[in-house]
Amino acid sequence: MKFLNVAEFFEKIEQANSRLDMMKHLAEMLGQANEQEIASLIYLSQGKLGPDYKNIEAGMGEQYVLESIAKISGYKKEELQKKYKEQGDLGLVAQEILSKKKQSSLYTEELTVNKVFANFLKIATTSGTGSQESKIKLLAELLNSAQPLEAKFITRVPLGQLRLGTGDPTLMDSLAVNYLNEFQTKEKKLVQELETKYKKPEDLQRQLRMRLREKIEEKYNIFPDLGKIAEMLKQKGLNGLNQIEITVGVPIRPTLAERMNTGEEIIEKLGNCAIEGKYDGLRLQCHKNENTVTIYSRNLEEMTAMFPDIVQGIRTEIKAKTMIFEGEALAVNEITGEFEAFQVTIQRKRKHEVKEFSEKVPLKLFVFDCMYLNGKNLMPLPFQERQEKLNEIITERKIVDLPERIVTSNALEVNSFFDQAIEKGLEGIIAKDLNAPYIAGARKFAWIKLKRSYKGELHDTIDAVIIGYLKGRGQRTVFGLGALLAAVYNPERDVFESIAKIGTGLSEEQLKQFAHDLEKLKTKQKPARVDSVLNPDVWVEPKIVIEVNADEITKSPVHTTAQQEFGTGLALRFPRLVKIRTDKQAEDCTHTDEIIKMYKNQKHVQVIKQEGSEN
Ligand code: ATP
Repeated sequence: MKFLNVAEFFEKIEQANSRLDMMKHLAEMLGQANEQEIASLIYLSQGKLGPDYKNIEAGMGEQYVLESIAKISGYKKEELQKKYKEQGDLGLVAQEILSKKKQSSLYTEELTVNKVFANFLKIATTSGTGSQESKIKLLAELLNSAQPLEAKFITRVPLGQLRLGTGDPTLMDSLAVNYLNEFQTKEKKLVQELETKYKKPEDLQRQLRMRLREKIEEKYNIFPDLGKIAEMLKQKGLNGLNQIEITVGVPIRPTLAERMNTGEEIIEKLGNCAIEGKYDGLRLQCHKNENTVTIYSRNLEEMTAMFPDIVQGIRTEIKAKTMIFEGEALAVNEITGEFEAFQVTIQRKRKHEVKEFSEKVPLKLFVFDCMYLNGKNLMPLPFQERQEKLNEIITERKIVDLPERIVTSNALEVNSFFDQAIEKGLEGIIAKDLNAPYIAGARKFAWIKLKRSYKGELHDTIDAVIIGYLKGRGQRTVFGLGALLAAVYNPERDVFESIAKIGTGLSEEQLKQFAHDLEKLKTKQKPARVDSVLNPDVWVEPKIVIEVNADEITKSPVHTTAQQEFGTGLALRFPRLVKIRTDKQAEDCTHTDEIIKMYKNQKHVQVIKQEGSEN
């Protein structure tokens, strides 16, 4: 497939102002790719060079890219720098420059997806002495053959700033569009069933597409590599999906917990259940293949090198050949045996002085679930059976341990376990449904968290994504940042719905850091997947997740969260920034349905309180 063709699609996708349009263009583009190029095309559409867990990065800063453009255009770097300052986007600079290039190229070739992707991969894998020059040359080689429109997108990829605004859910929907005919032919019974409910052809088609998207997503949750999934679909049609299986070395998307406020509510929901402490550390997903251990973060980034002590613990204390399991790593005071605060544990998330810190801040890993063992997928088994297996294979328990746990159907016991957990310095408790399978990538009632309440009315903080900011006045103008506009994620619509303007709680240091990070994410117009009535001074690509505390959730016409449900939006009252969640991607922030539940629950609590005060 010619890259010019792709660039034309990218242009249309970038300019699309509805998700449906985006999906249509994406589906058409993916439909034109062949087996050998579809995976690369998917990664390019994500603005990446591979699935997230492989951490393949071009490692090219703005300066290298500027030099590549200078090399092929005859412009001086200083001239280009000036243009960059004016435009704020090197892609646009490259496009402009190439349309009035000063020197003509001696040798050019027509670019293909494969050629472009191969050069990017070479850029990513080049390291050591002279790598700087090689990277510049490899990019220049592409730019030398590029049309202006191609140059716009070629320049943005190595900078990690493609900004098409397509999320993985939209990509999955586009794949579903392309295999809908085959799905309909294969699933005759489902079609008949849906036909009785959905009379209009467009409604029926939408329902079918959603069902197929769910099937694709099931695979994505255990194998989060859309490039590979698209390749299997291209090769074998829908049968290709059956070949995507849980694999040691490919991280699974984590299961997530629902929230509740009391032991009584938990027992009412789950009946007899397991209760464990909620350790406030780092969630680690560990893969063991004989002596090879790989560790992933909650965000599915590889972090093995940060935890040599845990790797060693897994090698020596776990009796299994192959295994995928999850646990929370936590600093424990060696002398007193007490759990340390999150601020102590987080010091281990570092690239330098790893050995020194592994001695200074030793960790213990509390293993709370096991998804794969000795060649067998354990995810469909009930929680209780998965735990029995863990008990059998984790015996030594010096570095790798199991959480303390009770099994009960008594709410008083739950509450007293909760109190003890808080006393020990834990964050709260997690209740687990004894019969539930491991549900990858979803927030379901298989796990329920009960956290210590905060000063405010809300029982939990909210993780929101920054979608824009307002410029400050007075002292804050130093960094050009006044208030942040934040949103939560609605996965059904694949959009970020605004929920709060956060003007307080930012220290000068935070302001400075934010101003720097946000500058890089600036977009000219409202990103396609953002739904907001408020217009901030600057829009940014939804990427940075912040934890926010607030007094309550209120109805508000100026925000768009849950507008579909209530006719008016929901907003956070008196929002305050707690911290930045570097362990979450934008889509992992709090979802709209959680906000709706928190809103309804808060009303319920308020009614109970009012009744209490009247008595
Ligand atoms: P939070 O900000 O409350 O940690 P989250 O969105 O990161 O929430 P949830 O799935 O809602 O994640 O809450 C469960 C989290 O609690 C897990 O991500 C895990 O890191 C942590 N955790 C601590 N102890 C346990 C435990 N015993 N079992 C399961 N998860 C635990």
